[in-house]
Amino acid sequence: MRTISRKEVIFEFSPENQPVASVEAGETLLIETDDCFRSQLKSEKDLVTEIDFSKVNPATGPIEIKGAAPGDLLVVEILDIQVESKGFMVAIPEEGGFGDIIKDSVTKLVPVKDGKFWFTPELSFPINPMVGVIGVAPASGTKPCGEIGDHGGNMDAKVICKDARIYFLVQREGAMLAMGDAHAGMGDGEAVICGVEVPAEVQVRVDLIKNPEFKPPRPVVELGDHFIAIGHGSSLDEAASTALHDMMELVHYKTGMNRAEIAMLISAVGNLKVCQIVDPQKTARVEMPKSILKSHDQPIFAG
Ligand code: CA
Ligand code: ZN
Repeated sequence: MRTISRKEVIFEFSPENQPVASVEAGETLLIETDDCFRSQLKSEKDLVTEIDFSKVNPATGPIEIKGAAPGDLLVVEILDIQVESKGFMVAIPEEGGFGDIIKDSVTKLVPVKDGKFWFTPELSFPINPMVGVIGVAPASGTKPCGEIGDHGGNMDAKVICKDARIYFLVQREGAMLAMGDAHAGMGDGEAVICGVEVPAEVQVRVDLIKNPEFKPPRPVVELGDHFIAIGHGSSLDEAASTALHDMMELVHYKTGMNRAEIAMLISAVGNLKVCQIVDPQKTARVEMPKSILKSHDQPIFAG
């Protein structure tokens, strides 16, 4: 299995990015990701307000997928996520959901051991590894890896985890996949501004669906019995609306139902959830059960 080193990172998704590796559709890869601080925090004495902010949110890659052309779907299946043993969290004045009451920058070391992260020596939780930043090169313009766009980016969605299949609309030749910002755990909302930030090894299988019938404008995730539209916007309302409308069009494509019927169906069995509220662009998702589909044992997009 080919390994992509965490030495090879980008800090922005750009059409100009040059690939660090070129792989075939169908290949399995091990992608080493750095933490969102580029491992600049070594202990609780290191404060996030003192690190080099031009080096946050590194994404390993980009990885060219041979044959990927704009309009294709890139399929990234997450086979496994192994997180390292040293996680960090931070609280920062004027940032995140509690910036108004955080007066001093704080760094917290959160060890990961025995399948748990240890918030304190007495308070531990099962790890729930996920990938915060994942995306493809945008068609135009440059997006820092800390931001979110139709290409993906810093979505911080808990559903981007082991066994998830993520579909991206390819925007430039080769797709140029990159990912980083793994968390050993995170709650929906990412309230303070981070999860339990850790380096990780992410095993993925990449595949291509050439010239698909339906082209989702933003990333779509399949996980277990659900399929999920992730929306973004400058407010949570806008992010929610985008995710709802993306889900509407996806269900319309899959079922042919009329839109009023779909609206009621989403309202009856769809779950609208917050991904994160702490970045300038917010992310929200709509999760729908695959049981609404005729072929619910099949992937939602096929080649
Ligand atoms: Ca993040
Ligand atoms: Zn993160």
